[in-house]
Amino acid sequence: MCQHKPSCPSAHRPDRDAARIVASHPEQGWNLLCNGAIVFDDSGELLPDGSVIAPLSPLLPALPALEASGTRIPVSVPVLAAA
Ligand SMILES: [Zn+2]
Repeated sequence: MCQHKPSCPSAHRPDRDAARIVASHPEQGWNLLCNGAIVFDDSGELLPDGSVIAPLSPLLPALPALEASGTRIPVSVPVLAAA
């Protein structure tokens, strides 16, 4: 899907957000990356295979580490507002 040289990170790599934006819809709060991932304004992501990356929360600092380890994070993880 990515036509860039060098290629952008694939959607299943932890650094997927470094891929370039190919469609931007700020009025709807999301961007499509060249690797097929959709990144939402709240930091949640939808990957090309349909899996969901829950938005990051300052109260759940372990989420990036879990994601990097390949652990799937359930969609129902509550997102708590910062105090
Ligand atoms: Zn690319």
